[in-house]
Amino acid sequence: MSLPRLLAILLCTSATLIAQVVSSPLKIEVRRALPAEDAPQQPTMPDTATLTRVLPANRKSVYSRCETTLPLIAITFDDGPDPVLTPRLLDLLKQRGIHATFFLVGKNAAAFPEVVHRIVEEGHEVGNHSWSHPLLTQLSQESVESQLRRTHDAILKGCGTAPLLYRPPYGAVRVSQRTRIEKTFGYPAILWDVDPQDWQHPRSAQKVYDRIHNQTRPGSIILCHDIHETTVAAMPATLDDLTARGFRFATVTQLIAYTTPPEIMGPPAPTPLPPKPLADPQSDTIGKDTAKSDEKNREKKVQSN
Ligand SMILES: [Zn+2]
Repeated sequence: MSLPRLLAILLCTSATLIAQVVSSPLKIEVRRALPAEDAPQQPTMPDTATLTRVLPANRKSVYSRCETTLPLIAITFDDGPDPVLTPRLLDLLKQRGIHATFFLVGKNAAAFPEVVHRIVEEGHEVGNHSWSHPLLTQLSQESVESQLRRTHDAILKGCGTAPLLYRPPYGAVRVSQRTRIEKTFGYPAILWDVDPQDWQHPRSAQKVYDRIHNQTRPGSIILCHDIHETTVAAMPATLDDLTARGFRFATVTQLIAYTTPPEIMGPPAPTPLPPKPLADPQSDTIGKDTAKSDEKNREKKVQSN
C-alpha cells in the first residue's frame, strides 16, 4: 500500500471515531440526595403488639378486607373451638408470635370454655359465629338475635371478654338483619377475601397452603376453619411463607382500627352565648355593649378551635 493511501485511510478512520464520540451523548447519571423533609414519606409497618383493639366509631358495617398498602393481614379461624385441634393451632401461633381471630360457634364455646379462655389469654381475638351455625337468612329476627345473644354470653362467660365482631355462617345475612344486629350488638359483619376452601373434600394441607399463598395481599382477611386437621397441618408452612414474604398478622379489630382513616370532624359547634343581662333601668346601653363584647369573644373562640 502506498504511503498517501495509508495516510488517507488513517485520516478517514480517525474522523469517523471523532464523529462517533462527538455525536454519542455522554451518559452521566446525576444523583441528588433529597433533603429529609422533601423525601416522600413511606408508611412504616406498625408493631402489631401495640395496635389498638378498639373499633373506631367511623368503621364500616361490613368488611371482606381492609384498604392498606402495608402488608398487614388478619387470619381467622371459624367454627371452633375444637378441644384437640384448637389447642394444637394455638401452640403453632404461640411459637411464631402470631395473633389470630377466632369466630366461635356458641355451643362449642359453651362446651369448651377452657379453650376460649386460652385463646384470649394468648392475645387472640374472639368473634361471634352464631350458636349452632344456621343459615341466618332463613331465620326470623328473633331467632337471629337469640343465636347471637347466647353465643355472646357463652364467650363472655368463657373468657371474660365480649366479642366486638361477628361472622354470619356461610357469609350470608340479609341487609335488614345486618342492620338490626349492628344496632343491637354493635358488631360489624366480617367476611373474607382469601378462601382456601379448606372444608371441601378431598381435603389437603397443600391446597390450603397454595390458595392462601396465591390469594393473600395487603389488608387481606383470610378464612380458615380450625375444626379440620388438614387446615391445622397446613399452618406451619403457610404462616412461615406469609411471614417470609413480609406479611404481618393483626387481629381483625386491629386491622380495621389501623386502616380506618381518622374521623372527619365537622366545623366546631358555636359556643352558646351567655344569657343577656337585664337592662339597667339607668342606662339602656349596658346590655348592648355586653352582648357586643360577647359576640367578639365568641368569634375569637371559634377561630381558635
Ligand atoms: Zn362457619
